[in-house]
Order: sequence, then structure tokens, then C-alpha cells
Amino acid sequence: MLREDKYNKNKEGTIFDIQRFSINDGPGIRTIVFLKGCPLKCKWCSNPESQSKDIQITFNKSSCINCGKCIDVCPQGAISLDGNNKIDRDKCDNCGLCVDNCYSNALVKIGRKIKVEELLQELKKDSVHFRRSGGGVTLSGGELLGQADFVAEILKGCKSMGWHTTLETTAFAKKEAVEKVIPLADLVLLDIKHTNNDIHINHIGVGNKIILENAKHISMISKELIIRVPVIPHFNCDNESINAIASFVKTLENVIRVDLLAYHNLGSSKYQNLEMKYEMDSDIAIPTDNIMNEFKEVFESFDMKCVIEG
Ligand code: SF4
Ligand code: SF4
Repeated sequence: MLREDKYNKNKEGTIFDIQRFSINDGPGIRTIVFLKGCPLKCKWCSNPESQSKDIQITFNKSSCINCGKCIDVCPQGAISLDGNNKIDRDKCDNCGLCVDNCYSNALVKIGRKIKVEELLQELKKDSVHFRRSGGGVTLSGGELLGQADFVAEILKGCKSMGWHTTLETTAFAKKEAVEKVIPLADLVLLDIKHTNNDIHINHIGVGNKIILENAKHISMISKELIIRVPVIPHFNCDNESINAIASFVKTLENVIRVDLLAYHNLGSSKYQNLEMKYEMDSDIAIPTDNIMNEFKEVFESFDMKCVIEG
């Protein structure tokens, strides 16, 4: 039985995925809940479906058999069959009727509203794996601090079940959200991408002042902190940038490790389905093992444990 008195079971939020049996996002075997909505626009983002806080409809052209059913059922007249089955996003109210009537799964609804209690019941199915492996629940995004009230109640619910909790955050959020959520988690995975404000704005769409200020605050109020650094060509894949990040991270409290994550383009195919543009060059070189090892040594030279994540 869930101990319902410990949290607001009716608090509602928007998620877009639940992934089970992850071993990379916190200790043990983990179930990851992805929350929708992110104020950042990283050019390399591998989850573009996380960026909008709204529920969205995606269209996969290669699965479409041109039956025209979606056009017949759309009450807003938002779909046109011009070979690309374009959805007019201004007309579409995300009712989902087209998805329900698309039997080839060319149309897919991204995101759903869920109450804390319903989510905890879904997570409960994995509790035996949490217990046996020392794992737990990881909340990711999107930027989960954008749904701070919802996240706080999930964390309280997880705590009442005795599950370990991990948060993945960009730290781009209001101070009140940080203070409401961070102390409730057992582990925080915090992205630090660049210390130069202009470069940050150019590649991510927002400056880094709030992020760096929040990072310091998070490091003081979190139990354990892992810093994650995505290594991105033409952005921070150079000694000067990595040294500056290491120098900043060295000033933080409670950092148990730094994880380096090499750029990949695995999410690029999702952009087309959302009628979004993937802004990284298609022929961009992925950082080599030698470069990643060089950067690992930079963090180690600052007396920090550093791991290259696969
Ligand atoms: S979600 Fe609803 S409004 Fe949007 S395209 Fe589909 S049927 Fe039309
Ligand atoms: S209902 Fe699905 S398969 Fe049929 S035209 Fe629309 S998107 Fe294509």
C-alpha cells in the first residue's frame, strides 16, 4: 500500500516517456521518468520532443500509407495531404483523434498528463528491481524544475516507498523551484555545458548566469552531486573550455564525480517528425577516445574523479 498521507497524490504533471532498466542514470537499475518542457534549446538535443511543455503530435512519413483517415477525422482541418501530411500547428489543439485513427502508427502523441498516484503505481511495478540492485527512480526531462510542484510530490511519494531518487537537471530555473525540489532527492545529476556566456547563448539559446548561480546553490543543498559535461564539437570540445569548466566545478560542494558524455547524433531523426530543424552539421566529427581521455585527465588534474560515459 502507498502511504498516501505523505504526498499529494492528485498533483498532476506532464511526462512524455517512462524508460525501464536503465543503468546509466544513477545507482543500480533505474526507471526514468521524462518530464515535458525545457527552456533550453541545445543544438545537439537528442530529445527534441522534450522541449515543448505541451502534448504534441508527431508524423513519421515513412510509416504513412496515405489512407487519408486523419484528414477525415480532424475537427480543426489541421492536416493536409500534400505528400508530407503537414500538420498546421496553429490549428491543431492536440486532441489526438488523428492518432487514434491512424492504424499504421505514422501519427504518434508525445506526452500525457498524469497524477502522482498513477505514476507511483506504474513505478511500483519495478520496485523489486530497485530493491535487489540498489536502484530507484530517476526524474529527467526536459527540465524537471519547470514542474517543481509535481516533482516535489513525486519525490515525497518515492521517499515514502523507500526508493532512491535521482534528478537530472540543467539548473536553468527559479531559485524557489531549486529550493523546493533539490533537498528531496538523494542524488542530483547536473549539466554544466560552458562557462562563457556568449558561447552558451549562441548554442543553447539562453545565457549561463542563472545556471552557474544555481549550480553553486544546488551544490550546497544537495546530498550528492554528479556533474555531467556533454562534449560537443565546435562548442566546448577544446582544452580552454574544458579547463574553465573544471575550474568552476572545483568550486562546488558535494561533487562525487564528473561524467563526460561525447556528442552523438542519435536523436537527429526525431526532428523531422516534429517539423523541427536539427542544427548540428550532419558530417560533424564525434570526439575521439583520445580527446575524451585528454579531457578526463584535465578533471583529474583538479583532483576530481572523472568517468567517460559510453
Ligand atoms: S491532434 Fe486533433 S486537431 Fe491536431 S491534427 Fe490531430 S485530429 Fe487534428
Ligand atoms: S491516418 Fe495515418 S496512415 Fe493514414 S494518411 Fe493519416 S498519417 Fe497517413
